[in-house]
Amino acid sequence: MLITLKEAATRLQAANRILITAHIHPDGDAIGSTLAAMQILRAMGKTAVIFIDDKVPQNLHSLPCFDEVSRPADGETFDADLLLILDTSLERIGNVRKMTNAPILNIDHHVTNIGDGYALYVEDKAAATCEIIFKLARELGETITPDIATCLYSGIARDTGFFKFSNTSAETLAIASELVTYGASPYLISEQMNKKSLAEVIGLRDALNSLKTFYGDKVAGMTLDYATVSKFDSTEGIIDEIRGIDTVDVVFLISEREPNVCRVSIRSKGVDVAKIAARLGGGGHIRAAGCTLKTTLAEAEKILVEAIGKAL
Ligand code: 5GP
Ligand code: MN
Repeated sequence: MLITLKEAATRLQAANRILITAHIHPDGDAIGSTLAAMQILRAMGKTAVIFIDDKVPQNLHSLPCFDEVSRPADGETFDADLLLILDTSLERIGNVRKMTNAPILNIDHHVTNIGDGYALYVEDKAAATCEIIFKLARELGETITPDIATCLYSGIARDTGFFKFSNTSAETLAIASELVTYGASPYLISEQMNKKSLAEVIGLRDALNSLKTFYGDKVAGMTLDYATVSKFDSTEGIIDEIRGIDTVDVVFLISEREPNVCRVSIRSKGVDVAKIAARLGGGGHIRAAGCTLKTTLAEAEKILVEAIGKAL
């Protein structure tokens, strides 16, 4: 059921024990939005906890209150009266789904999120879920502290590629500007989020070595096998290295996270890659999407290149 931002605020006001979560393979927007929401809800006097059913990349560990992010243990439950799902639909929260039967409030900015019988506030024009949490804080009349500002700015910076991608709107920049006024430091956040280990830069060299193009150079892609993926704490940002190739419309990165489990990231300058990803069981945004293909790296590449070819 689609609800308004006001209704989302009312549901949060009515709740007392809120379990907050976001998607597996968490990114700066997922972690930034959950941490900001937790701080806002605690300031309102609520009990609010965060569970994410995955490892969180190292470059997000310095976000304010990061220590509050837990991973559910086997069979762990939480006595909640609301499950707040951010930056994803219910399908991508892993075992957090089993932690409570509380009613769901879902807040997201993914165009492919069509909900499934629970309360959903989706704003696909928002560059990041953190943008929506900013508006929610305003709706709730809550103060944006420097820590909350840092979390929200980090999420917006991540999902806009530091204000480069097509989702960067005047409103995005206005919100980011306000967040700086409230205490977010653009250079410190950029330094922190773009930090890499030497092994990761070496992995990047391996990734670039795998570069291939298709369809008269309109499509470019890289593949990382299991051994190479293990050099990375996170593969975030690798795909951006080839986005700028002048002939390409669509770029992809396939990384074999576990033997025969391939994570696919797709980016485009025009083609609707959310549709391509959705057809392969994933989702995302028009120009940035992803999915998981449970097969070999070679087969995953074949399936993906074929699907992209149909969409060109
Ligand atoms: P990334 O390539 O950075 O992992 O993901 C790009 C965008 O697509 C993000 O907004 C992400 O949430 C979304 N996305 C990635 N993988 C999946 C997936 O398997 N399912 C859905 N629904 N969305 C995905
Ligand atoms: Mn997001």
